[in-house]
Amino acid sequence: MASKVKLQVVFPKGAFGAGGDDTELERFLRRVSVHFSEDPDGEWAEKYGTGYEDETILIHPYCWCGKKDCAWCTGMAPNFWHKPSGFKVWWYKYIGRGMETAGEQPGLTTLLRELTKRRRSVVIGTFRVLNDAGEELGSV
Ligand SMILES: [Zn+2]
Repeated sequence: MASKVKLQVVFPKGAFGAGGDDTELERFLRRVSVHFSEDPDGEWAEKYGTGYEDETILIHPYCWCGKKDCAWCTGMAPNFWHKPSGFKVWWYKYIGRGMETAGEQPGLTTLLRELTKRRRSVVIGTFRVLNDAGEELGSV
């Protein structure tokens, strides 16, 4: 006699990129990542983010290097940083998973419009990790 077993597989939020239940912040991060990615499909920027920095923003995908002095693996450096407002976002592996923010979130509709008008520009220098007192903890 055969019996039926119901199996439910649960994937973490963001595991397949964009989803219908994405928040405004998640949609913003996906759009900005795809916009500034050199290879949006190859690196699946919509899911992981991308590597990009200019005078206004920094985006860095979740880092898997595991090095003890890596600013991203240690959680010191955010995955998204809007420099003028100080707004920062961290995520675990994928945009939308285990996200944490710091600082006041700027108006995302306006910011998205402003950022996506721009093209990629040259990455500027070194990313410096500062503590709350403004002291440099390290750089990458
Ligand atoms: Zn790392």
